[in-house]
Amino acid sequence: MKRYSVAVLPGDGIGPEIMHEAMKVLKAVGKKAGVEFAATEALVGGSSIDAHGVPLTDEVLKLTLSSDAVMLGAVGGTKWEGLDYSIRPERALLALRKELGLFANVRPARIYKDLIDASTLKPEVIDGVDLVVIRELTGGLYFGTPKGVEKLPDGTERGVNTMVYTTPEIERIAKVGFEVARKRRKKLCSVDKANVLETTELWRKVVIKIGQDYPDVELSHMYVDNCAMQLVRNPKQFDVIVTENTFGDILSDEASMLTGSIGMLPSASLGATKNRAMYEPIHGSAPDIAGKGIANPIATILSVAMMLKYSFDMEDASVAIEAAVEKVLNKGYRTADIYQPGTKKASCSEMGEAVLKEL
Ligand code: NAD
Repeated sequence: MKRYSVAVLPGDGIGPEIMHEAMKVLKAVGKKAGVEFAATEALVGGSSIDAHGVPLTDEVLKLTLSSDAVMLGAVGGTKWEGLDYSIRPERALLALRKELGLFANVRPARIYKDLIDASTLKPEVIDGVDLVVIRELTGGLYFGTPKGVEKLPDGTERGVNTMVYTTPEIERIAKVGFEVARKRRKKLCSVDKANVLETTELWRKVVIKIGQDYPDVELSHMYVDNCAMQLVRNPKQFDVIVTENTFGDILSDEASMLTGSIGMLPSASLGATKNRAMYEPIHGSAPDIAGKGIANPIATILSVAMMLKYSFDMEDASVAIEAAVEKVLNKGYRTADIYQPGTKKASCSEMGEAVLKEL
């Protein structure tokens, strides 16, 4: 029997509730496919601060480094907001990204027919949207040097950030873009600002070069300002978008809001090798509804589907989970965040059970 180890870090707030449902789904899928998922649960974020004084212990870091994949719920909450930045719950995420070498953030945004009214855009614009934004996570404007604020002789100040990318950094994110596109509709749009920024001129050149190894994927290029506009004008044109860190930060949030429902969106952060990957919902720990049993577990369940696809090459099982979610929505089950009159209000665990039943 095949065996994969998964480090499970539920985190804070609604994290444990949603992760509980997602793990039930993972177990069921494993049973069906004859694969053993050895899940080891551990504390991260605020819950780790309460128990150990730090958001990520060396032991938990070791667990994540020795696992085949990491599943994360969410971290943070008002309780820990007064703490020094160096030991805030969110530091755990930054440390995990750094130590696992996660450089590609993969965020799908898909419209479910039954939730089309949740979007602020017209149904005819978003019906059928199914796209992925891949954001480079470790370079670009957020990390380039020189950076900082300096005092000038005349008493004014000067702020500097630098957009930096090397050829290997662009090559590896481009490869992720082409690989993800290959598993989908085989269209990759590389987003840059090559008409103004030399860094992204290099980006475009390198992406084109890598594209020669992927003749089956149709490559196009778009300037970031046009992409921001096209995402709301005609989002159906996109399959996979790959872009720089800052551009990706903005575009992935824009793309996710096409769907209008934060509790539905999964994400993956991928590293250089198959066993370096972390999967998590895009939403936070939702302290306002934690402990009430009303959180939407679908984003976390769909994160499991992404893990099966990207870490374990279990495409069929991944698609089965996505189809089960679609059926459950079609049958009218809704957690409070996506509830509309005329549908069936479900708790977090009822939603998890409903997905399980469809599997
Ligand atoms: P949030 O995503 O936690 O919540 C925003 C709103 O969406 C809230 O009204 C919440 O109730 C709702 N919501 C979020 N997920 C939901 C779900 N699954 N089901 C139903 N409703 C859901 O964002 P926030 O309020 O800005 O942040 C809360 C805490 O989470 C903060 O401490 C923040 O730092 C942290 N955070 C963590 C992550 C992460 O762990 N990756 C991401 C974002 C925010």
